[in-house]
Amino acid sequence: MTTTRNVIIIGSGPAGLTAAIYTARANLAPLVLEGEPSSTSDQPGGQLMLTTEVENFPGFPEGVMGPDLMQRFRDQAIRFGAETKMEKVSRIEVGSRPFEVWVGDPDAPEPTYRAEALVLSTGARSLMLGLPNEHELIGHGVSTCATCDGFFFRGHEIAVVGGGDSAVEEATFLTKFADKVHLIHRRDELRASKIMQDRALSNEKIVPHWNAQVAEIQGDGRVTGVVLEDTVTGERSDLAVTGLFVAIGHRPNTDLFIDKLDLDDNGYLVTGRDGMATATSIDGVFGCGDVQDHTYRQAITASGSGCSAAIDAERWLEANVHS
Ligand code: NAP
Repeated sequence: MTTTRNVIIIGSGPAGLTAAIYTARANLAPLVLEGEPSSTSDQPGGQLMLTTEVENFPGFPEGVMGPDLMQRFRDQAIRFGAETKMEKVSRIEVGSRPFEVWVGDPDAPEPTYRAEALVLSTGARSLMLGLPNEHELIGHGVSTCATCDGFFFRGHEIAVVGGGDSAVEEATFLTKFADKVHLIHRRDELRASKIMQDRALSNEKIVPHWNAQVAEIQGDGRVTGVVLEDTVTGERSDLAVTGLFVAIGHRPNTDLFIDKLDLDDNGYLVTGRDGMATATSIDGVFGCGDVQDHTYRQAITASGSGCSAAIDAERWLEANVHS
């Protein structure tokens, strides 16, 4: 019989590890199930493990490398008594308490862990084009976050892929830095809202490429260009750019929660009720970070919501379990 923990935190990006720091300091001895290093999309440490320099996290005026920042979060959580395990959760049951968590075989008769409260911080992943060298060039010209990386492309010629609000918004934002922004869309009309389209298409720094897709990313160690393919004629052409922003949508990592917790139409965990910003549809289960946020998606906002989840969990445990 497994012992019942106070709090299990699933996910180890900025949200999960901030929740770990706060719940550890509240003497709740949290267990953080970090995930396994095998996956590129939902790996331990989250999306910051896929970035290089982070310049917008407060407190680091000189900037900090994404993986170093996450190691600091982790060290801080462990210092206050959080336990971390590089294990990937395969199933949760939240129908009754204590909640149950499986690692490994999801059909095993007994859960691996039980907990009075759960904090879900499994994050989200950017959809990628699926090109062979795309992942190794992330942080070296390929980016999924204009807010984070736009600054590095001051005076450059760059490309944004996608035709939705994200792509159009990012292309417009990137004109603050880049001299020219190529907007590459696979069809001949954008999906983005009309007002955002108008703003982007009237911006003289933005060059739209209709019916175009990226067939290849060029560059050895750093992006030097892309090969575009016309989706109608199949004709190929070279485009010399130093940056490629992939903005074709995000997916929250919520497969584990389907039919167990309320998700919105886009699959994000629904949070916020009874005066608790991070409460999910089940009492005692809290959600924080990108798994429940499709708007801000920043390390600092994820971190802030991790703090809220820890405080919500602590107060809920005090009122319902430890009282
Ligand atoms: P989205 O609306 O799903 O758009 C994704 C875009 O990427 C589409 O244009 C799609 O092309 C294209 N795409 C998908 N897979 C592709 C592939 N493999 N290769 C090339 N292109 C591909 O995603 P989003 O723009 O991230 O927006 C998500 C949600 O957030 C939307 O509801 C959006 O309105 C909202 N959002 C709002 C704002 C705002 O209001 N400020 C800002 C950002 C996002 P097709 O058009 O051909 O399918």
